[in-house]
Amino acid sequence: MVITEDEIRNSLAAILTPRRADERMTTMGAGSDDLEPARAYLASTVGGGWALPSWPTAFGGRDADPEEVALINRVLREFSVPDLYAYMIGLGMCGPALLVHGTDEQQQRWLPTIASGAEIWCQMFSEPEAGSDLANLALRASRDGDEWTLEGQKVWTSRAVWARWGLCLARTDPDVPKHAGLTMFAVNMYSPGVEVRPLVQMNGDGHFSEVFLTGARVPDEWRIGDIGAGWKVAMTVLAHERAAAGTNRGGGDGGIKGVRTPGWLRDLADRDALSNAVTRQRAMKIHARDAAAGWTADRASVSRQPGPAGSGAKVHKTFSFQGRVYLDKDSRGAEAMLASHDGHVEFLTGPSMSIRGGTDEIQRNILGERVLGLPSEPRVDRDIPWSKARKGEH
Ligand SMILES: Cc1cc2nc3c(=O)[nH]c(=O)nc-3n(C[C@H](O)[C@H](O)[C@H](O)COP(=O)(O)OP(=O)(O)OC[C@H]3O[C@@H](n4cnc5c(N)ncnc54)[C@H](O)[C@@H]3O)c2cc1C
Repeated sequence: MVITEDEIRNSLAAILTPRRADERMTTMGAGSDDLEPARAYLASTVGGGWALPSWPTAFGGRDADPEEVALINRVLREFSVPDLYAYMIGLGMCGPALLVHGTDEQQQRWLPTIASGAEIWCQMFSEPEAGSDLANLALRASRDGDEWTLEGQKVWTSRAVWARWGLCLARTDPDVPKHAGLTMFAVNMYSPGVEVRPLVQMNGDGHFSEVFLTGARVPDEWRIGDIGAGWKVAMTVLAHERAAAGTNRGGGDGGIKGVRTPGWLRDLADRDALSNAVTRQRAMKIHARDAAAGWTADRASVSRQPGPAGSGAKVHKTFSFQGRVYLDKDSRGAEAMLASHDGHVEFLTGPSMSIRGGTDEIQRNILGERVLGLPSEPRVDRDIPWSKARKGEH
């Protein structure tokens, strides 16, 4: 590492404003559709590679080693950083997957516009019959010369309403076992045959959608990875998604990196809620799990191919997010019945944390099998052709 803490601070001070102690941000985009603050932040930091320090300099990073990445992230917390939610699929999942599985041309085409915030990505994995059992997905991609035709439906596609590109896992061979017949594509969301229908969530957001693909055409040069190797690409994406979910990047105010008292804790103290021993105990447990989430996520994201640590980070983060927003409600007395206080939208967002990016149960299955070495679940359809084993059909 050659750059010093002061040099980082001075460079950031030239382009960002200091963070105010009372600053509140949205978390996971909850309650906000304003894309501009995060786009402006990415556009201003991309030249120095500050938002994505571990990425190659050529693509909007600065080739920083893990020590430098940690230092930059720590100094960044002194500055006002908006919720990057709308951009996080590109920044935290598609970009890292392209660095591992993309061709040189794909990396040059897509990584700089992800880093600068010029293009938003969405992740088109889940389908009505394929959530936890993602490899059961049915959306079909058929080869037609130098192009592919995509036919089928995705659901719960976050950011699809804003996205220029969709990372789409599709079935290219139904006659092999389910994991082996999948291929990954980048779909131009503006192309004919792509229809996005927003769904309204219980927190009022319309941030995820159904996406219908009806004869949408995708050139073979937008295939990411080999034909039939889509599962491998998907696993890279999901491992990064879980690791990213454990961090406070992209919003929130967990104060993981240590130097500041997190805003939610300060807020409880300001309302004198921490004079209650039970509240204090709950708050400290949440704070500890939040720190564990951040450290685990940092460890996981050092790797280009994070392993099950991302699942550990996500389980901790879900606990701390839900714990924080439920404690906030519990500590407010009668005011908590009103929908108008800060934190109400986050309260309504809490349950989704146990589902998005893979449910708590699935993360625990991963930890049980891959970290603790417990016996694996029975997987009766693993070795038979998907077309014969297909679930959801009678
Ligand atoms: C806010 C939000 C945003 C999302 N964004 C996206 C997105 O951008 N792109 C995308 O592709 N998807 C997205 N999803 C979808 C998400 O990944 C799925 O909802 C999730 O994987 C669960 O799948 P499912 O809803 O089909 O539930 P199911 O898989 O049907 O699960 C139902 C219940 O059964 C349990 N269960 C299932 N299998 C097992 C098992 N083997 N062992 C133990 N328990 C099990 C689950 O834990 C759950 O409690 C999003 C979801 C939410 C809530």
